[in-house]
Amino acid sequence: MKRDKKLLNYRHITYIIFAALLAALFFIGAIEGRGRGSASQSLFAMDTYMEVTAYGADSEAAVEAAVAEIRRIDALLSTGSAVSEVAALNRRKTGALSEDTAYLLQRSLELAEDTDGAFDITVYPLVKAWGFAGGGFRVPSDAELSQLLQSVDSSALAYEEGSAWLELPESVEIDFGGIAKGYTSERVSRLMKEYGIQSAILNLGGNVQAVGAKTDKSAWRVAIQNPDKEKPYLGILSVKDQAVITSGGYERYFEEGGIVYHHIIDPHTGKPAQKGLCSVTVVSGDGTYADGLSTALYVLGREKAVEYWRMHKADFDFVFLDEGGMLWVSEGIEADFSSEFAYETIR
Ligand code: AMP
Ligand code: MG
Repeated sequence: MKRDKKLLNYRHITYIIFAALLAALFFIGAIEGRGRGSASQSLFAMDTYMEVTAYGADSEAAVEAAVAEIRRIDALLSTGSAVSEVAALNRRKTGALSEDTAYLLQRSLELAEDTDGAFDITVYPLVKAWGFAGGGFRVPSDAELSQLLQSVDSSALAYEEGSAWLELPESVEIDFGGIAKGYTSERVSRLMKEYGIQSAILNLGGNVQAVGAKTDKSAWRVAIQNPDKEKPYLGILSVKDQAVITSGGYERYFEEGGIVYHHIIDPHTGKPAQKGLCSVTVVSGDGTYADGLSTALYVLGREKAVEYWRMHKADFDFVFLDEGGMLWVSEGIEADFSSEFAYETIR
């Protein structure tokens, strides 16, 4: 009996040590997991699929906050929602702008001026006429286009910076569709940093924002889609803390009478831009700029786009694909770009 009791005690102690070891291992694992954890969420917003992935402690809370931020900006800017700030402005033609909208308006006006109106948020009535907003694809008549073109001119918007008050002329309507995703990625990127995240990747419908580097400190590798989906990617870009934003006629289009009509409108003609480019990727630390610019450079065409780049080399780099299948890459990203295709470096 005495011996049995002793044996039991010995076994108890062994169990306790074993349980304590397990608990310690679990605890260490939990701490490690918090340190190196990751979180990811997909959502549908701004008419596209988005994915937000973050690594590190607080990644879960950071991703939650990112999704809430995306939904907040979408609700503010969406032209499709009757209650958004932008929809209300288009309806009432007057109103005070929130901080986000005021910032976007200013960036959009700067870009319009800088690109001779290639980027213009007042192009919205034309976007609607072609059916790229509100549905019903159709080819408007030349008479309709020239009538609508009369209200396309963002330099005619009356904006009071002090009071953030905007007045739209009667027939004018605005849309931030060409710049909103880049702005969103910039905001979310800042939010990630506030959460102490040093490694995250945001994919907002093919527009990518790298936050910091990968967890092993190497650069993020971002693939640029080939408009011909049967073929390999146009190339891979290695980036840290940068936005990689692409505009392409292949993203939204319809066909009528054997002609393809796409969603990037030339504000000078009222028609889908046809300046020889089929894909424009802009790489920049400034997501808002990269988005607005990818749309603008598509409208400008290669020669004018290169001319623009030569005056702003410090602010961005590019990858262009033209209709002849030629790839053009600016020198600033030469070392960070790889492709299966031949390409020409622009200096
Ligand atoms: P993105 O995909 O960034 O090139 O933006 C294209 C979207 O921007 C279109 O679907 C329109 O809503 C809007 N848009 C089209 N043409 C222009 C333009 N020339 N300037 C500003 N926004 C435009
Ligand atoms: Mg854009």
